Amino acid sequence: MSLNKTPALSSLACTVVYWQKQHGRHHLPWQGTQDPYRIWLSEIMLQQTQVATVIGYYERFLSRFPDIATLAQAQQEDVMPYWAGLGYYARARNLHRCAQELATNWDCRFPPTPEQIATLPGIGRSTAAAIAAFAYGTRSAIMDGNVKRVFTRYFGIYGVTSQRETEKLLWDTAQSAVEAAPASLDMAAYTQGLMDLGSQCCIRGRPDCARCPLKANCYAYIHGVQQQLPTPKPRKASPERACKMLVVRSHDRILLEKQVSPGIWGGLWSLPRYDDASEIDAACRNFGQAGAAQKMAGLLHVFSHFKLHIEPWYLQCDTLRVTEAGQGQAWIAIEDLPSTALPAPIRKILDGLFNPHDRALPEFTDAPADTG
Ligand code: SF4
Repeated sequence: MSLNKTPALSSLACTVVYWQKQHGRHHLPWQGTQDPYRIWLSEIMLQQTQVATVIGYYERFLSRFPDIATLAQAQQEDVMPYWAGLGYYARARNLHRCAQELATNWDCRFPPTPEQIATLPGIGRSTAAAIAAFAYGTRSAIMDGNVKRVFTRYFGIYGVTSQRETEKLLWDTAQSAVEAAPASLDMAAYTQGLMDLGSQCCIRGRPDCARCPLKANCYAYIHGVQQQLPTPKPRKASPERACKMLVVRSHDRILLEKQVSPGIWGGLWSLPRYDDASEIDAACRNFGQAGAAQKMAGLLHVFSHFKLHIEPWYLQCDTLRVTEAGQGQAWIAIEDLPSTALPAPIRKILDGLFNPHDRALPEFTDAPADTG
């Protein structure tokens, strides 16, 4: 780990602000507000998700839950459909818990300091600082993935950024950059500018240094080591798991199971899941349809820490009475699937089966195939 001390800290923030005002993003739906609720929601949604994907989710979420009080009063199962498909569902559960804590302890307002904000569920130090910077203009540094990339390259900071020593150096440097800036620093523009630089110029792979306002003092640019920074994490092979799922259809309804919290899809609806073919057979016998299930094309879903091979099976079973469902199960009307909280791979399976314009029986394959 090393630090390039050459660049003048004091000019960094002003350069970023000047660039942001000329070239940064100004028309995203969560910009132009100082409402910490809206800022918080966007920051949480953007943590693992691209801006283009977030925009629709953000607007739908806000139209249903326009403020902290509305979100706090909702049931978790009312919230999950508005997150379904965004992934990393703990974010939605924490968002809901956090709203309840704000309602209970903070009169439906956000606390005034980033340190207090960071004590709330699902809000880390960087998100807390971003909320405070955008909502209150607080002079506190952020350190998200984009900023790590800009700072490691600009200051020549080597070392895996998740290692404690490197992370501390990054935070200290970011805080020094804020402290060295003039008292008149526009914190919202500076914070947004760092994010914009990381997503528009200092991108992964080949950064667009020609457009970057920091290039005159950037360690990576001067030394031609943009590709080596940030220091890559040692690669670890992702473990692979496999399961089978059963789409049971009776007339125009599908049997779904509510996933328990805090499981990986906690609060969402999924298909009945089995470990092997004998369990599928047993389930079909229980439905009075031994051997009637048909295998569909398989798919691979990649989670952050493992890969899941899903082999879906389909069972048409119109003799089943849809008034009867096991504990945690429900027969959901096919026409209600678009508004049901489904994880992305389950939606993919069901969308493939039940195109709203064509309710014909699906096509089947003899062998499972990974579709990515
Ligand atoms: S000059 Fe290039 S490497 Fe340096 S901060 Fe700008 S975009 Fe990143």
